[in-house]
Amino acid sequence: MGYQNIRFPEGTKFLVTGSAGFIGSNLVEAILNLGYQVRGLDNLSTGKRENVDLFFHHPRYEFIEGDIRDLDTCLKACEGVDFVLHQAAWGSVPRSIELPLLYEEINVKGTLNMLEAAKQYGVKKFVYASSSSVYGDEPTLPKQEGREGKLLSPYALTKKTVEEYARLYTSLYDLDTYGLRYFNVFGKRQDPDGAYAAVIPKFIKQLLNDEQPIINGNGKQSRDFTFIENVIEANLKACKASGEAAGHAFNIAFGGREFLLDIYNNLNHALGKDIQPIFGPTRRGDIKHSNADISKAKELLGYDPDWDFEKGIEAAIDWYKKDLEVLRVD
Ligand code: NAD
Repeated sequence: MGYQNIRFPEGTKFLVTGSAGFIGSNLVEAILNLGYQVRGLDNLSTGKRENVDLFFHHPRYEFIEGDIRDLDTCLKACEGVDFVLHQAAWGSVPRSIELPLLYEEINVKGTLNMLEAAKQYGVKKFVYASSSSVYGDEPTLPKQEGREGKLLSPYALTKKTVEEYARLYTSLYDLDTYGLRYFNVFGKRQDPDGAYAAVIPKFIKQLLNDEQPIINGNGKQSRDFTFIENVIEANLKACKASGEAAGHAFNIAFGGREFLLDIYNNLNHALGKDIQPIFGPTRRGDIKHSNADISKAKELLGYDPDWDFEKGIEAAIDWYKKDLEVLRVD
């Protein structure tokens, strides 16, 4: 269980793209703690400088400020690297509906550049972030790889396209690629601010500040909220996976199902508040329910997540309480 006992040869070097973001910065931290080398790549568009500064003086960390839309930058980033953990992308379904051209440029062209650079430098494994949004309007629960419906947003289309490119890079060029379909990840350093912020950090921050959060829809939508530690485990286990599992995409979640209104009520309670939410309109492009079948990742990657929702949300609340307290003192 977990990833603490995963070992790589001494001196192994990982490239984490999107290293100034939520998931990327947690990957950087975990890999440095395990004793390996990390190069980060980020253009700081949605990521934060402070997530780079956190590790800046670490002797096994280096950072390239650059854009994955530029092939030369991707080539520079892949030089001398054993494993690529590609997280850089623009997230958010509603924002992609506003900006489809930009999403194509960053998420599709940027990833194609990264695949090409990884191929040219012969990296051992290319592990990349996909998304549960690729299931589109397929209503069957739990979501199973191979049973995808019609896509509902440009964001989902970029992730599905990237999966196809990755599959081709495996079959045509022998690059071992592994797609990780994350399901609503949460945990420390996830940005609570802005119109496109994820609900958990946003609710926590608003409740701590005695503001009334908005719930889009009636709150009866459900999600397989996944704690960040499970995502780190999936990335590192994919680096250890056999070549037979290459070219595939895998559901990465805990395999549970939480309703938004229940989460809201539990956060209210855990933070000692009694604040009524405001109910807003349903968001276009959103799916109603989501819950993952994780048996494929278990079987082919040895993924065995040990952070259930309750344990994860406790850790997340503790972190936000401290982080937001520090910000208030400042
Ligand atoms: P994030 O916005 O916190 O991190 C993304 C990082 O990528 C940012 O630091 C940003 O500056 C960087 N980036 C964006 N465009 C770039 C470019 N052109 N060149 C270089 N860097 C660029 O998002 P996150 O939540 O950490 O998501 C990481 C990955 O996981 C993304 O691919 C996202 O689509 C995927 N994902 C996330 C979730 C989730 O719940 N957080 C769910 C499904 C999939």
